[in-house]
Parts: sequence; C-alpha cells; structure tokens
Amino acid sequence: MVRSPTPLPEVKSHYGDLQNYIDGVWRSPEAAEWLDDPNPATGRIIARVPLSTREDVDVAVQAALRAWDAWRETPPLDRARTFFALRDLMERHAEDLSRVVVQDMGKTVDEARGEVRRAIENVEVAAGIPSLMMGYNLEDGAAKGIDEEVLYQPVGVFAGISPFNFPVMVQFWFWPYAVATGNVWIAKPSEQDPIPSQLVFDLIHRAGFPAGVVNLVHGAKDTANALIDHPDVRGISFVGSSATAKAVYARAAAAGKRVQCGGGAKNVLVVMPDAKLDTAVSNMIASCYGCAGERCLAGSVVVGVGGVHEALRKTFGEAASKLKVGYGLDETVRMGPVISSAHRDRVVGFINRGEAEGARVALDGRQLRVRDYPGYFVGPTVLDDVRADMGVAQAEIFGPVVTFFEADRLDDAIETVNRSPYGNAATIYTSSGKAARDFRHHARAGNIGINVGVAAPVAYFPFGGTKDSFFGDLHPQGRDAIRFFTESKVVITRWL
Ligand code: NAD
Repeated sequence: MVRSPTPLPEVKSHYGDLQNYIDGVWRSPEAAEWLDDPNPATGRIIARVPLSTREDVDVAVQAALRAWDAWRETPPLDRARTFFALRDLMERHAEDLSRVVVQDMGKTVDEARGEVRRAIENVEVAAGIPSLMMGYNLEDGAAKGIDEEVLYQPVGVFAGISPFNFPVMVQFWFWPYAVATGNVWIAKPSEQDPIPSQLVFDLIHRAGFPAGVVNLVHGAKDTANALIDHPDVRGISFVGSSATAKAVYARAAAAGKRVQCGGGAKNVLVVMPDAKLDTAVSNMIASCYGCAGERCLAGSVVVGVGGVHEALRKTFGEAASKLKVGYGLDETVRMGPVISSAHRDRVVGFINRGEAEGARVALDGRQLRVRDYPGYFVGPTVLDDVRADMGVAQAEIFGPVVTFFEADRLDDAIETVNRSPYGNAATIYTSSGKAARDFRHHARAGNIGINVGVAAPVAYFPFGGTKDSFFGDLHPQGRDAIRFFTESKVVITRWL
C-alpha cells in the first residue's frame, strides 16, 4: 500500500453537466441519456456527459457547412494566424489542461504534460500551412505551350472520433491539419474522459476561430455512428480499438467517404545480448508502465534474445516492483490508475487467464490498493514463461501487464513481431548496427524504435501503423494529414 498526500490540487472538483460547442456557442444537447464520468483515482463522479442524438449531430453538421464557405475562402496565412493565437493560449493554459487530463484520465501529471506538449506541436506544424499546402506545376507539362499544375483544395466537413487514452492529443493529430487546409471540423471525444475537451474548446473559442469552423459533440457509439452516416460529413478520422476501427472503416468507406482509422496494438520490445541493459530496462519500464500501459505505443511483449533473458527478467522485475503507484497529481507518483472499474476487471481477468494458461505471475499487481484513493488501480505485472499460443500472448491487454518470451535468435524475435495481427510499433535494444538494420527492414510494424521504447513520431512525421493497427492509407499528422484533408485539382492551361 502506498500513501499519496491528500488533498492534491485539482483544477475543479466537479465540472457539472458537459455541453456541446456548436456554431461558436456552448449549448445543451437534446440528449435524453447521460453518463457519469468518474475520476479514475478517486472513483468520485466529476461530470456528466451527454449522449448526443442524431438531431444534435445534424445541428453541428449544418453549422459546420454554413461556416465552410467563408473559411475555405480565408487565405491560408490568415487561417495560420488563428493557429498562432491558439498556440499561445495553449502554452499559457498547458498546466491546467494537464491537470484536468490527470483528473479525468488518470495518467501522471508529467505524462499529461507530455500529451499537451504533443498537441501544441501539432498546432505549430499546422500553422505552417501556407508552405505545407502548396501544390506543384510544370511549364510545358502537357505539350509545348501547355502548362500543368496541381492545386490542393479543402473537401468540406470532417469528423474526428477519438479514444480515452489521450483525451487531448489524438484529436490534435487531425483537426489542426483539417482546419488549416480550409475544412471544417466536428470532434467527438471519448465518453470516458470528455472534460479536457471542454477546456480545449474554450481556448479554440478564445483564439478566434469563426463560429462553426470547429465544433464539439459529446457522446458514445451512437453519436459516432450518426457522424459517420451523415451525408454531409465527407471524411472520418478515427482512433480506437481494432474491432471498432475496422467497423468504422467499412461503414464510412461504404458510404463513399474518406476514412483513416487507427486501431489497437500489442507492441514487442526485443532485447539483444549486446544491449546496454540498465539503460534499456529503464526505457522499457517507461514504455510498458507509462500511462498504466494504456498507450497504443506501450511495450507489452518483451523478448530477450540469446543469453540476455535471465539478467533481463531480473533487472526488469526489480525496476517494475519499485514503481510508485497513486494519484497522478502527486508529482512523485510514476503510475496512475486505469480508466474505469470495468477496465480494471478486464486487465485483472487477463492476468488470471495467463496464470490459468500456464504463465508464471512473476510480479503480481492484482491486489494493489492505494491508501486514500479507492479508484481503479492495478499494479505493475509481469507474466513470465509465456508461450506464443496463449491468449495473453496475442490479445491487446491495454494495462500494466507485460508478457516475457525467450528467443534463441533475432529472426525468432522478429517472427514474434510479424505473427501478431497488430502492427503499431516494435523496438529493438542493441549496440549492433547490423541487428538494428535487419530489424528495421524485416519487422512488420508502422513505428520502429531503435533503442527507443515509445516510438512516437513527432508532429511533422506521420503516425505509422500497419495490419490491424491501421485501416486506410494516409496516416495522422504531417504530410499524410495534408493529403488526407485535401483534394488534388489539376489545371491544364494554354494561352493563345
Ligand atoms: P474504443 O474503440 O472503445 O472507442 C474509441 C472511440 O470510438 C470512442 O470515441 C467511442 O465512443 C467510439 N466508439 C466505440 N464503439 C464504437 C462503435 N461500435 N462504432 C463507432 N464508434 C464507436 O477505444 P478506447 O477504449 O476508447 O481506446 C483504446 C483503444 O484505442 C486501444 O485499443 C488502443 O490501442 C487504441 N489506440 C490506438 C491508437 C493508434 O494510433 N493506433 C492510439 C490511441 C489508442
């Protein structure tokens, strides 16, 4: 049992009934149903979130459509200036925003600061839209005296549906690029931690985006489907679990929409005998237990190659057992709770299942309790002696549970990466350039780490993902995002 000092400074203790932000104003939705939103560390209800109806969604889409005509005619440089204003406001309010992320999602305050920083970086990159959106041309491209050029133009109304684990950042993988390129946006954050979006939209309002350009609609599955089905929504950006990502991809594509869907993950960390073990282990601990394992880039499978396995599991197990677990607003805490009691039960269910399948529970987080905080805690857990055919070796657990494998050679470790249905990230720890190069070339995952346990691309690079971890072709962030949110128009010109 670990004691956290109480009470910790919360931004507010209750956020009331949340509202939608549509057409530049906060409004109560028609929603007849509301969900309670608990703080995962305290278990206390800190807001109620509305489940917006199809009618609520239509109000947002109509507002966005009305705003689009003027916004797409606004010169890119002027659009960019609004992002500069937003960036300054986000910098000024970054600490409050981070603390609200802790209150609603449960990660530690340092992790929340990192998340908010990543969101700001996407605003900074999108503010470069006058350069990023340039097309290209070729004199005499079609024939002598006939020039050819490509213009990138906005498409219309886009909607973003995001998961609980990064309640600020994931929306920022998309909307700054959509809106900077001249489109209009409707955000549907996760119903499990919707409060940070209230603050974000307060800042969006103050930054001076015209009414209707960026909108917020709260809700869960039915609200998401209302957005996907709406005939005036031209494209969908989605992030969530693989089953949902695949269903959303199929549903939106069948309606002829643009769609990009990030899915779940089961990321492998490979440790070679020539790795610098101490550095590797502290990096792996941050990867596996950061955000309580609820990161789509979290390390979840550790593969020790050759003779390293024994030393690795000993060093890793010792480091994991020392992690301080508690309320993330306590600066000394290194791991917070998981998002909900249902999710805690699911994670504990996986540990039970691994044990039943024959894995050894080398470090057991099932009984962990945090004094003063009755929330949804699971301690760092290690499942050792895992075999590839076990359920825990294959399923995404999305909690602080790591499965340990032993491999004879690098090829076997790469095979562990490649047989997984997921392909979000894979990391190798090594001092060998040859091993690193082989891994980079052969491992089938979209984000590769070489001695980097959380291979998270910065805003001007696309956020990769393959196999069941991504459905679509153009990824979030960077140039991919610019292409996703624009049509290419070709102009062929002859002057007589
Ligand atoms: P989730 O799939 O339950 O929900 C994601 C979003 O989809 C939410 O806004 C939810 O309201 C909505 N939704 C739920 N069911 C739906 C349905 N049937 N139809 C339409 N919309 C629906 O995911 P979650 O539990 O909030 O998030 C965790 C998952 O997200 C994990 O699997 C994690 O790996 C994944 N994730 C992936 C990435 C990535 O980049 N690939 C990033 C972050 C999280």
